Amino acid sequence: MARVLVVGGGWSGLAAAVELCRHRVEVTLIEAAGRLGGRAARISHRGREYDSGQHLVIGAYHGVLELLAAMGVAQETVFRRRPFELLSLSPSPSTSPPLRLRLAALPAPFHLLGGILGAEGLSRADKWSALRFCLAAARSRDLPEDYSVQELMFRHGQPPGLISRLWEPICLAALNTPLHEASAGMFLRVLRDAFAYDRRDSDLLLPRRGLADMFPEPARRFIEGHGGRILLDRRAAALEVSHGRISGVTLVDGARLDADHVVLALPPPACLRLIEPCAALRAVAERMAGFDYAPICTLYLRYPPAVRLDLPMIGLHGTLAQWAFDLGVSGEPGLIAAVISGPGEHMELERDVLQQRVAAELAACFPHWPAPEEIFTLCDKRATFLSRPGINAWRPDVETPVEACWLAGDAVATGYPATLEGAVRSGLECARRIVREPSEMTRGQT
Ligand SMILES: Cc1cc2nc3c(=O)[nH]c(=O)nc-3n(C[C@H](O)[C@H](O)[C@H](O)COP(=O)(O)OP(=O)(O)OC[C@H]3O[C@@H](n4cnc5c(N)ncnc54)[C@H](O)[C@@H]3O)c2cc1C
Repeated sequence: MARVLVVGGGWSGLAAAVELCRHRVEVTLIEAAGRLGGRAARISHRGREYDSGQHLVIGAYHGVLELLAAMGVAQETVFRRRPFELLSLSPSPSTSPPLRLRLAALPAPFHLLGGILGAEGLSRADKWSALRFCLAAARSRDLPEDYSVQELMFRHGQPPGLISRLWEPICLAALNTPLHEASAGMFLRVLRDAFAYDRRDSDLLLPRRGLADMFPEPARRFIEGHGGRILLDRRAAALEVSHGRISGVTLVDGARLDADHVVLALPPPACLRLIEPCAALRAVAERMAGFDYAPICTLYLRYPPAVRLDLPMIGLHGTLAQWAFDLGVSGEPGLIAAVISGPGEHMELERDVLQQRVAAELAACFPHWPAPEEIFTLCDKRATFLSRPGINAWRPDVETPVEACWLAGDAVATGYPATLEGAVRSGLECARRIVREPSEMTRGQT
């Protein structure tokens, strides 16, 4: 039986390991941290548990859903499904009234078109502009040449107010990239995947307890239940490559792990550190070095349990915070996560000032709320790569020039932005390419 070593226990590495275990491959997964999940893990702060950043998961995450089904995990045990509904509020409703969009009871994409027609808070002209854009987006396929989402908006005559209240927040939430820098091709793909094919694709999937219980923990149980090994607090330091083939990795403690295949399921900076010394991987290293990154800040504000939002997730307009999530749906009544995606002035603010600003914004939008009892802030400066025009042509493939050395992770060429779904798909693709290689697998038999 071939032995596969997966380096990295984020969603991509776990997906690769699960899929390999399903094909009865002998898997060892090493993770540098003391927990699984990578950027989407569960962390502790002052005796309480939090997700390591608020995540939005939708019904179009077919890779995640297929893998849960393959592991025998019933969806309803790990998340609740809710139809997408957009409510966007501003602290000054007299100048910027609430925008509310409920999807119509129609098949996709008419559910969205009907929703736009019936939306509250949009002028008739805005509705027609949005409808024209959605129809064009549903019909569009790959762009012959990529350009920015700002340019896309301009080409489709989208009014500035509609852009700032509807398209910009969606672009930031989906690509974590500002409009003027974001890839139109990637934005159109995300819109199509969420709204064009099946109305359930736009559903929100709300974790029942937290991100770790949604996938990393079931994946751990599955991998270990199928004979796989998971080693935490083990960091890869170097790749063992000779004659164009990888034979294992050396860990920082000097231990060596041999394998017939190695999957590097890492974010680009960590991957780069491992592959840079290897001449045969120079071209891949150049690609890995070519990403720029954008931050995401999550502020967890703890209110009395009676505090809740009308919807699991509400958009905020004219504020630093772009979205507020009610974590009451995940068993944490009174916990509100305020999210700020992408770069901006908030990254220059002292932590205290940022917390006060966001608490004041929420107080202005929800005047009946008391002050928060506690705020815990997580800002990841390199949360995801920037999804710039042309980025898809630049992303490395899962296969590398070194035999049996594979790449997974949200940055590899899946066509998806840096998301949980992109990460899972990359892991699945690696695993499938490994098991589809009978000669390699046979060579691995000892
Ligand atoms: C704050 C925040 C909010 C986000 N919001 C969303 C969202 O709403 N929706 C969405 O779909 N996506 C979101 N994302 C993106 C999503 O979290 C990532 O795309 C996904 O988790 C990436 O998974 P990965 O396995 O590719 O990489 P990672 O999660 O980075 O996993 C890589 C793992 O490798 C380990 N590692 C690193 N170096 C070594 C080494 N040398 N040896 C061994 N192990 C090593 C790391 O410790 C890590 O656990 C968000 C990300 C952040 C940070």
